[in-house]
Formats: sequence, structure tokens, C-alpha cells
Amino acid sequence: MADKNFNAFQMAQTQFDKVAEILTLDEPTRQLLREPLREYHFSIPVKMDDGTTKVFKGFRVQHNDAFGPCKGGIRFHPQETVDTVRALAMWMTWKCAVVGIPLGGGKGGVICDPHNLSMREQEQICRGWVRQLAKDVGPLNDVPAPDVMTSSQHMLWMLDEFETIKGSKYPGFITGKPIGLGGSLGRTEATGYGVIFTVREALKMLGIRPEDTTASIQGFGNVAQYALQLYSMLGGKVVCVSCWDQKDQKAYSFKKTSGITFEELTGITDRFGGIDQKKAIELGYEILDADAWIEQDVDILIPAAMENQVREDNIVKVGKKVKIIAEGANGPTTPEADKIIEEKGIFLIPDFLANAGGVTCSYFEQVQSNMNYFWEKDEVLGKLDYIMTSAFNAVSDLSKKKNLYMRDAAYVISISRVAQACKDRGWS
Ligand code: GLU
Repeated sequence: MADKNFNAFQMAQTQFDKVAEILTLDEPTRQLLREPLREYHFSIPVKMDDGTTKVFKGFRVQHNDAFGPCKGGIRFHPQETVDTVRALAMWMTWKCAVVGIPLGGGKGGVICDPHNLSMREQEQICRGWVRQLAKDVGPLNDVPAPDVMTSSQHMLWMLDEFETIKGSKYPGFITGKPIGLGGSLGRTEATGYGVIFTVREALKMLGIRPEDTTASIQGFGNVAQYALQLYSMLGGKVVCVSCWDQKDQKAYSFKKTSGITFEELTGITDRFGGIDQKKAIELGYEILDADAWIEQDVDILIPAAMENQVREDNIVKVGKKVKIIAEGANGPTTPEADKIIEEKGIFLIPDFLANAGGVTCSYFEQVQSNMNYFWEKDEVLGKLDYIMTSAFNAVSDLSKKKNLYMRDAAYVISISRVAQACKDRGWS
């Protein structure tokens, strides 16, 4: 995302165009699906703690709602662009479709850096975002959620603003809420656990026991943390994790050959996923450069940070042992790197399949919120496992049957489902 030449929306459209060809989609359907249905651009004025006023730029993009209300997170990031939000909204459409939940695709963002904002200032941004959009979002048309640098606290402020404007309770307006205030048990773990449910199935298919594998992860935010936790519970060993260092404005990799535990590393990590270097060295971690995570001699790579991280220039450095790449992030791999992954015969679990656990659990949260009846954690995670496993099997079966790269197989399933829904509604 920091790379000015990279455009996530162009990448999403390139991926779409390739599969539209495979499916010989008609022209109106292509036109409809390669652009968002609607988008909102607005300003959010905030009185800062020092008495000055700052104006933040906000977005919401609704890519497609043929299957149901749009669904997708809101990112707070200093390098956010409307094209990134467009790409992410489009990927949400494919994500909901691949797991077969009755929701469409949307995404929102605000250009801001929460590292430099007080909680009061962030609250004002959240409330301002909702004030601008209250007419155009809601449980029946567009349901936001957390994403990069937003949390359950942000969701609660947004819910509170929405309910204040509407004058009633709307617990199904937003997901990722705190437990006890409309949140679902398991939502915090859901995206990372979902990634590992698909990794577990891929290993089963390849005839490898998780206990015999090692992994390296890019990022140490919510997705990476819970991927590490469940993978370790299955017996796997994570030997390297990378993260962004806010002070140095660059990323580093943290390596521990004896294996990284969830408790140890989360114990020295801030709320943005930044790891304390000094404490890490004391605990025996080796600090390496940003790309070291991808160069490790491991069986599984999990990019779980941002888009444009697995590229032509660094995919060539991937260790010979790597058998699986599971994309916890949205859009981490460029089309050029995809070609090399395919040539190398590495089994790819594409982003909108691998990381669909978050939105699937958000769907459960919405159902529970609307019923005002909440399930046990085991029930939530059991249902999540079932949906993720079924979606993984459908994509890998199609990939084998039609000899398609896994990303293309996932796209074939999603695009044909959404295209059919649009046709059935008489939209194309
Ligand atoms: N932000 C997450 C994603 O990219 C979750 C979206 C949601 O729960 O609606 O999938």
C-alpha cells in the first residue's frame, strides 16, 4: 500500500477479467461486476484535543448487494486510498459468495493514523463517519465491521451514534462489537482460526501431519495472532513473525527457531500488532529485516498483514520447502507473483477463501444480534469450521477437476454465483 505505483483496484479488476474470460461472462455482467454499485466520499471534521480542527477523509464503497446487505470492515490507515477501498469491497463480494452467506460486498475507510490519535479523537472520527452515512448503511443495506486498526471499541461508538440518530436499538447494524454488548463469542478469533481451518484441510489433502510442519507469518495483528494460536494448538511450530515498527517506520521479522508461542509474543505486542524489540531480544528472538519472513525454510507461509506484500521481487526468495501459502491478508499477492507461485507448484489458499472466517462469524453475530439470543463459543466455532471446511473443499475439488490455480477456482465459484444472482434479479 505504501508503494505509490501499486493499485489494488487495478489488481482486483485484473483478477476479475481473467476469470470473466474463463467463464465467458457477457458484457453487461462484466461491466456491472468490475465496478462498485455505489460509493460515498466525505469529510469528517474533528475537534482535536489541542483545540484545533482537523478534517479527515472517509469512504464507503458498496460493490454488490445481489445476495443481501453489503458487508465489510472499516479501515483506519494513513495511506488509505479510494482505490484500495474499492478493491477491498469487491473482494468482500467474492468472499461472502465463496462461503455462501447471504451478504454482499462493501468496505470503508478513513485516512488517519490511530497511532497518533487519542481515543477521544478516534471516537469523534467513528461518530463522524456514521453521521455522514446513517441514511445509506444499516442492518438491511450495509453492515460494517472492524478491519485494519479498528476494534470492537470503534464498532461500539459507531453503533451508539447510529442508534442515537435513529432513536431505536439496531444491534444488527454493525458486527465485531464487544462481548456482552451484542458481540459474538469467537469473533475475535474467527479470521485467524478460519485461515488455519483451511490450512488444516490443505495439509490433510497433501497427506502431511500439522505436527510435522513449520510456518512463518507476516504481520502480528488480530489475524496473525489467532492463526498462530490455532496452528500451534494443532501441533505446528511458528518460527518467524514480522511486524511494522511505528517508531522506525519500517517492518522487521522476529525469528525463534525453537518456536513462537501465542502467550509469549502477545505479551510483548501493542494493540496495533507492534512487537517490542528490546523485550523480544531478551526473550531470545533474532531480529531480521522486513522480508526475512518470506525467506524462511518452512512448510507454510501466512501473509497476514496488508496488500502487495508477495511480489515478483520477493517471491523468488521463497524457501524450497514451502508447500502452502495461506493468505490471511486481503490482496497480499500480485498477479506477477501468482504466476511464479503456480510455476513453483506451491498450493495457494487465496485470500477471500482463507480469511473468510471473519465475515462468516460476523454473519453469525448479525443473526444472534437480530434474534437477541446468543450462542455458546463452541457452537459458533463449530459452525465456522463447517462453513470454512465446506468452502475449502468446494474450491479445491473444482481446482483439481478443471486443473485451475486455486485463486482462479475460488473466483470461478464466487463470480458465477454473484453473476447468476444478478441475472435472476434482472440486473444483467
Ligand atoms: N474486515 C474483515 C474482512 O476483510 C471482516 C469483515 C466483516 O466481518 O464484515 O473480511
